[in-house]
Amino acid sequence: MLVKKIAIDLGTTNILVHVHKRGVIINEPSVVAISKIDKKILAVGGEAKDMLGRTPDTIVAKRPLKDGVIADYKTTESMLRYFINKALGNFRLLRPEVMVAVPGGISSVERRAVIDAAVAAGARAAYIIKEPIVAAIGADIPIGSASGHMIVDIGGGTTEAAVISLGGVVTSASERIGGNKFDASIAEFIKQKYNLAIGERTAEEIKIQIGSAMYLDEKMFMEIRGRDMISGLPRIMEVSSDDTTDAIQNELRGIVTTVKNVLHETPPELSADVMDKGIILSGGSSMLRNLDRLVAEATGVPTYVADEPLFCVVKGTGMALDNLEAYKRSILATR
Ligand code: ADP
Ligand code: MG
Repeated sequence: MLVKKIAIDLGTTNILVHVHKRGVIINEPSVVAISKIDKKILAVGGEAKDMLGRTPDTIVAKRPLKDGVIADYKTTESMLRYFINKALGNFRLLRPEVMVAVPGGISSVERRAVIDAAVAAGARAAYIIKEPIVAAIGADIPIGSASGHMIVDIGGGTTEAAVISLGGVVTSASERIGGNKFDASIAEFIKQKYNLAIGERTAEEIKIQIGSAMYLDEKMFMEIRGRDMISGLPRIMEVSSDDTTDAIQNELRGIVTTVKNVLHETPPELSADVMDKGIILSGGSSMLRNLDRLVAEATGVPTYVADEPLFCVVKGTGMALDNLEAYKRSILATR
């Protein structure tokens, strides 16, 4: 099958690739494992993520994007090239058009770098687009209408809230709060409360299995393994959903404040629209139990999680690439 259009969500935590008419074909962690000796790339994506925290001295596994910005340009470029090549497969009679959705906070130099990486990987044309716009498109929000819509994308590294009207961002805010911080806070909380050291991967599993933004009427429990801080030996114990709610209070407050700040700056006509239509949540962390309810209660605005929240950005990017003319005002850089 000939691949002509490739849409990429270059996320801090996950990189997703959507191919015209085929849908999302790649969904992998944005992690790269590199040999320290010759700087060669040993693994990318899921395979590299499994190495996080488990590498010998000669290998580093790293996330080239951090907190919604490109922390390591060269590795980001290699990763992008790897995934574009993977999407292209063996058929490459035509060079593809590539559109990349990037975190809101990235600088113009970094945008250039992403464009160059796409071109180096074989793109005939490359475009960069604003994440909130494509998140909204992917969440089926009619962004072109003369009405205000609010989208809040909560990923691994950042929370980005934006009010969109007539295809443009009217007010927005980006905070470095997301699922990775939830994980870190859960690990810290369990260390403080139970004297048990756990890794980030375990913390993430706890969050996904029993995590909740509000206390549950019917508490959930989970058995976890870690290292006892006092004896230094492995220990098994049970934690509850309440532990997770307690652990991430600061982050939750931060997310609510970000949303409220954007609402405060939104012109009255548009806030009336938002009140009417509600706030839409996207991004992997919007799947945290009761996060929608928490935002709704804190703001007084009905709040909904988009369908397939992990895919909103990449699907929206694919739709923007299919309709370049309609969305050209939202494109940040081209080559
Ligand atoms: P990014 O855009 O930063 O790459 P994503 O939108 O892909 O991030 O979301 C990744 C985050 O979503 C991770 O922190 C992950 O732990 C979190 N996540 C995934 N599934 C769930 C879930 N069911 N509940 C809570 N968090 C989740
Ligand atoms: Mg994202």
